[in-house]
Amino acid sequence: AKLIPDEIAFSENDLSLMIYPARHNVVDMTVQQKLNGLLIEIYLSQQLKYDIVKTIDSWMIVNIYDGKIDTAAFIRRKPASTVIETKAYQFEKSAQVSIRLRGTDFTYVHKYKDDPPRIQIAVKGNAFADTVLTYTPPETLSTSDKSQDTLIDVIVIDPGHGGDDNGAIGPSKIKEKDIVLDIAKKLRDILVNKNFKVILTRDDDRFVSLADRTDIANEAEADLFISIHCNAASNKNAGGTIVFFLADAKTDQARAAAALENSALKYETKTKSKREPSDIDFILSDMIQNEYLKESADFADMIQKNIKNKAKINSRGVDQAGFFVLNKAFMPAVLVETAFISNKADEKILRDDKKRQSIAEAISESILQFKAKYEGIK
Ligand SMILES: [Zn+2]
Repeated sequence: AKLIPDEIAFSENDLSLMIYPARHNVVDMTVQQKLNGLLIEIYLSQQLKYDIVKTIDSWMIVNIYDGKIDTAAFIRRKPASTVIETKAYQFEKSAQVSIRLRGTDFTYVHKYKDDPPRIQIAVKGNAFADTVLTYTPPETLSTSDKSQDTLIDVIVIDPGHGGDDNGAIGPSKIKEKDIVLDIAKKLRDILVNKNFKVILTRDDDRFVSLADRTDIANEAEADLFISIHCNAASNKNAGGTIVFFLADAKTDQARAAAALENSALKYETKTKSKREPSDIDFILSDMIQNEYLKESADFADMIQKNIKNKAKINSRGVDQAGFFVLNKAFMPAVLVETAFISNKADEKILRDDKKRQSIAEAISESILQFKAKYEGIK
């Protein structure tokens, strides 16, 4: 072992000590408790090779090659309640961060990310499931430094499907992709009149991949993301509005809707999209949306109530499920299943231009309510 840290060089010739400023490249770590697990981020000042080993006694050991660790910064960190202990070591050719987690029954996925350079480790397991019950969504919207803009004035509207992907088709052969595009355009016109900046993920009958839809919203630094759809079920009596936010599905109804909308992914492989979400992408982005869980759930509830009252469509309430299109949205995001296109009565509503206008007005009203409640508290 080395007795003198790298920053200090001792010369035996003239018995001099040279002291260099510390050059750490493993600089910090955060452990965030998420609704569905833990998100561990180890911040680097440059990309470094690393590996992760899980021991049988619940240590996760991250070896970072050529790592120079700021051990003081790591020791200062107060671990999350599901972390028993963290340790940081400097070895001659590597740095090591060890994290001891509660329980042995956990799985993890990891990924190197740029901007800033960091190792992200998403941990899921039984020991963390308890936290679902005690988790309180954060009061503030975002910890991101760049979000100094607290206005809620940029809205991304996402009409589902398009192009080869018709979405669901009603008994009279109307297509979901056409209905939702019309509602999206009506909503855009209302919002533009109220001085919102509005971006549609598509404004004609074209195919847009699910990943591109959230990319559009993130690039626009949108304040709200609203995906508009029509539901469908093999039970032709099923009807009404459901407004979803992204979280693990808890009901069969929610799982069915997510499966229906996620099936748009099959059109993406047809167009050779290289962007098919991987497991890690999904888990991490699921965690990203958890940052906005409270706001998304609240916004979903506003839309559900307004559609019921203004458009007079039966409401099936608010629900949660794993929608890819809400994936990676760095903002409150909802998916509105306006009505069941597979239900004759609902289809009649969706075919009615005035009803579509009412749905657009109901969503617009909800945006105004959300703005009044949340603007300025980022
Ligand atoms: Zn759809």
